[in-house]
Amino acid sequence: MNLQGILPFARTLLEAAASDGSAVIDATCGNGNDTLYLSRLVGKRGRVFGFDIQELAIQNTTRRLLEEQAFDNVTLFHAGHHTMKSAIPAEYHGSIKAAIFNLGYLPGGNKEIVTQSDSTIEALEQLYELLAPGGIAVLVIYHGHEQGKKERDAVLEYASQLDQQKAHVLQYGFINQKNNPPFIVAIEKR
Ligand code: SAM
Repeated sequence: MNLQGILPFARTLLEAAASDGSAVIDATCGNGNDTLYLSRLVGKRGRVFGFDIQELAIQNTTRRLLEEQAFDNVTLFHAGHHTMKSAIPAEYHGSIKAAIFNLGYLPGGNKEIVTQSDSTIEALEQLYELLAPGGIAVLVIYHGHEQGKKERDAVLEYASQLDQQKAHVLQYGFINQKNNPPFIVAIEKR
């Protein structure tokens, strides 16, 4: 396939906005795959702030970073991403280059614990203030489960109404695949 898949495209977007030395956010650490990827992307001089509401996710992410001998450039918060503005030190406000929200439930964990549209949108509002101009928020939206459908609708409504003078908003997904494949919404601060 020549078209980029959803997860590779998410990384293409992150790489367009962030590079060596950047400050970035993993808004949903889960098992730490994106946190590790971001840690490598921004390198020793960069900074990754990671959030998850589940202790298990913080433990899994910590273990993954240790196993992979990641750079010591990650700060994890056992907290919801809607706390990012108060959690992330003021010196980084306005300079965050990229953030990833891999929404839904923890793979291998409790499927009842899922991201919720209200806190996701509150986090996006805060993130807009934290982003540098040109900074990108990438949301991977899983809408196969009930709450995922609500979150999909709420995020699309929120993102499609953002002022085009303030943000570029993109939707990317495969529209002929079965079983509710995930898709991307990306918001670039102008
Ligand atoms: N990116 C992860 C990875 O690489 O393994 C997968 C993330 S998983 C799809 C979604 C995660 O979001 C779960 O671990 C869940 O605990 C977390 N989560 C749910 N609500 C949250 C919130 N309000 N703030 C931060 N994390 C949340």
